[in-house]
Amino acid sequence: MAPSIVSERPRESLMSSQLQAPEPEHCPGPESEQAGKGDACDGCPNQSICSTQLPKGPDPDMPIINQRLSQIDHKILVLSGKGGVGKSTFTSMLSWALAADEDMEVGAMDLDICGPSLPRMLGAEGESIHQSNSGWSPVYVADNLGLMSISFMLPDPDSAVIWRGAKKNGLIKQFLKDVHWGEHLDYLVVDTPPGTSDEHLSVTTYMKETGIDGALIVTTPQEVALLDVRKEIDFCRKAGIKILGLVENMSGFVCPNCKGESQIFKPTTGGGEQLCKDLGIPFLGSVPLDPRIGKSCDAGESFFDSYADSPAATAILDVVDALRDQVELSVEGLKLN
Ligand code: SF4
Repeated sequence: MAPSIVSERPRESLMSSQLQAPEPEHCPGPESEQAGKGDACDGCPNQSICSTQLPKGPDPDMPIINQRLSQIDHKILVLSGKGGVGKSTFTSMLSWALAADEDMEVGAMDLDICGPSLPRMLGAEGESIHQSNSGWSPVYVADNLGLMSISFMLPDPDSAVIWRGAKKNGLIKQFLKDVHWGEHLDYLVVDTPPGTSDEHLSVTTYMKETGIDGALIVTTPQEVALLDVRKEIDFCRKAGIKILGLVENMSGFVCPNCKGESQIFKPTTGGGEQLCKDLGIPFLGSVPLDPRIGKSCDAGESFFDSYADSPAATAILDVVDALRDQVELSVEGLKLN
């Protein structure tokens, strides 16, 4: 049986029961130092309670979270400015590509709480997680590739998850605190929702002490997507997250029949590569549109197993190599500092 979605600590239950109204969407958390004082609290009916009565201070769960995360060598956040650019698709392919190395232990964490799609893409739809003395066990889609997603905890895959910020925060904390990835993980790839929202703030806060290697940003070439990428880059800079690089997805389409190439999403301002030059971040490469990618994701199969020789597979593997180079550079930079 799947564990209950949120087994809140007594301290949090106490807080929630003391509040006059549910926490609003951008609540920083009634137990945070900013509770009742930050801009997000303006107009909240709980302001007087949060600013005076509730216990505050260091989160007592942080030592456990840090201990769990210390067993993971590299943590990568996958971000996108908007939805529909193929972020989760790319996350699934990144996970398959990393796990293609049998010596590597890889974890994928689906933090897109309102739209979890990794279970489908990684072939784990309908699975449920199990609890052991060590914590929650991820669902293994390959010997060395584990997956954790909220969808494993939902009674009905079509259920909408309508949660406010504090509840999402509680689940993310629980994922980081209770999931047992094994003795050691080489890579944890974290799929996040589009934009910059509660999920991003929560995961970066909880991972800050053990460190995040950086963010991989996924975009499409057209300006309307790049506009939001600039905001995502700004978020990373403000949150102190290193940007490992940007990948331009759906970049051109080669017709499988006539072999003619066309630009479905035309880059009117130079696309992702020009944006990277302008903003001084690494450009990791472009991935062409290939309808077989969607087909593989729908079937929950590795695209690389089915279409290893396709131009899209080559392009994705080049991006993954470039990303791993950036991760190594990042680690070397930290050693030198
Ligand atoms: S419940 Fe309201 S006052 Fe309390 S921390 Fe959240 S937003 Fe601020």
